[in-house]
Amino acid sequence: MPARTGQQYIEGLKERPPTLYMSGKRVKDPTSQAGLSGGIKTLARMYDLQHDPVIGKEMTYRSPTTGDQVGLSFLTPKTHGDLDRRHHMMRNWAKITCGMMGRTPDFLNVSLMSMAAAGKFFGQNRPEFEKNIYDYYEMVREKDLVLTHTLVNIQRNRSGAATALDDSLDVALSVVKETDEGIIVNGARVLATLPIADEIAVYPARSHRLPTGAPGRTSFAFALPCDTPGLKFQCRESFDLQRSSFDHPLGSRFEEMDALAFFDNVLVPWERVFLYGDVDMCNNMSLTTHQYLHSGHQVVTKNVVKCEFILGLANLMVQTLGSSELPQVHGMMAEIIENLEITKALLRSAEVDAELDEWGVMCPVDISLMVARQQFIKMYPRMGEILHLLGSSSLMALPTEDDFSGPLVEDIDRYLETDFSSAKERVKLFRLAWDTCCSAFGSRQILYERFFQGDRNRNVVLMNTRYDKEPMSQFVLDFLNQEELE
Ligand SMILES: Cc1cc2nc3c(=O)[nH]c(=O)nc-3n(C[C@H](O)[C@H](O)[C@H](O)COP(=O)(O)OP(=O)(O)OC[C@H]3O[C@@H](n4cnc5c(N)ncnc54)[C@H](O)[C@@H]3O)c2cc1C
Repeated sequence: MPARTGQQYIEGLKERPPTLYMSGKRVKDPTSQAGLSGGIKTLARMYDLQHDPVIGKEMTYRSPTTGDQVGLSFLTPKTHGDLDRRHHMMRNWAKITCGMMGRTPDFLNVSLMSMAAAGKFFGQNRPEFEKNIYDYYEMVREKDLVLTHTLVNIQRNRSGAATALDDSLDVALSVVKETDEGIIVNGARVLATLPIADEIAVYPARSHRLPTGAPGRTSFAFALPCDTPGLKFQCRESFDLQRSSFDHPLGSRFEEMDALAFFDNVLVPWERVFLYGDVDMCNNMSLTTHQYLHSGHQVVTKNVVKCEFILGLANLMVQTLGSSELPQVHGMMAEIIENLEITKALLRSAEVDAELDEWGVMCPVDISLMVARQQFIKMYPRMGEILHLLGSSSLMALPTEDDFSGPLVEDIDRYLETDFSSAKERVKLFRLAWDTCCSAFGSRQILYERFFQGDRNRNVVLMNTRYDKEPMSQFVLDFLNQEELE
């Protein structure tokens, strides 16, 4: 089947809705559910872009099995040119959301592609798992399905004395039984962003390693349809408050939702199991398959777009307030420019120095992507702070759209215009700034960037452990051992 249209994605959700619960009720039809339908419409726009008469060609490629045009994020990159094509495709999707939907389907499509390409890794103990992961990748690619994923067990006790496993053994997702049909899993996981999806992938997080000696029943990777019996998603409160795009320009469009995933003795058929019972494999899955390099490529591509959006927004804010020539404003604008250019440069170096890995896949460079990720954890909250400092009271002097047809409209028009903007244009812009850095939607963006791909503290350990520092130590030793100059 060729790449889906937006309507086909919506119909898929209607026919087989994920088992979502929100605000104390079961969601019957997510596509018409207040608080979810805005994000679904935006995802549908992305799928429609695959059929756009101009950009559509950049968004798809020819399926190696069916010859149909399928989504380009499924492409197995073999050359630098392939990575470049994928970059453009992912950038086109990120621009639709101003970088505000982190979990657009390309994030998991590229992950799944890399796992399938590294199929031999999965097949090393159980040869059938190699076929399982490849068949699953092909099925998702050909049906153009949307995936969510959940990797981390819910916090129960993260004290130093507790191991990553002990702290949550009674609630952690684990295999409770094996049957002829498959494995039965029980427990909970946090979080599944984008539960408005067709399928859920469950695999180990690179950041949360299982301790040595952990029981095999805690190590697995599998995938299931989101309407599988026993699987339930508890959504958080929606930040799409059903207001107009004037009042809540981001929340009304880009609510991707986050959900807890509860597994109540769920059967995972054997053909959907990719890894089971091997703690070392579980801990090394992401690093060995290079899955994190491909999802990292999507993340940093999205982050460049997000920086561009923040820079454009900040520039319009200071132009509107006439503050652009103040020395401290130059300083803050320069900081955003630096963030954008550093992120772009790291993305570029990750792509230019990309190499084929042992699975024959062109992989962006590990350290460039890791640094970009670590920097963004600091950059994004700071950019939110800069928007606060640039906007100050204008971020609260915010009548709603209705107020522009209310009894105070003459006062609003008179007192809220600036020397550079009408009152309505100013309010429209600053409502966008508010939704970026002050609203519940905006705060969640900051939390997301801090944590969605592992926390900074664990990530620095990973980076420092893996970085080869020996050549630099040798450099210093050579210097220390130099003979005195004549
Ligand atoms: C908005 C949002 C969306 C998300 N979406 C997804 C998703 O779609 N799929 C998914 O799988 N996950 C998702 N996550 C979860 C994310 O992967 C985790 O939040 C992240 O890995 C941190 O894990 P944790 O929340 O359990 O925090 P913890 O692991 O408890 O860490 C909390 C803090 O304590 C410190 N800490 C605790 N224990 C240790 C330790 N042993 N060593 C070092 N430091 C420690 C950490 O540094 C951190 O600062 C999402 C999170 C957020 C906030």
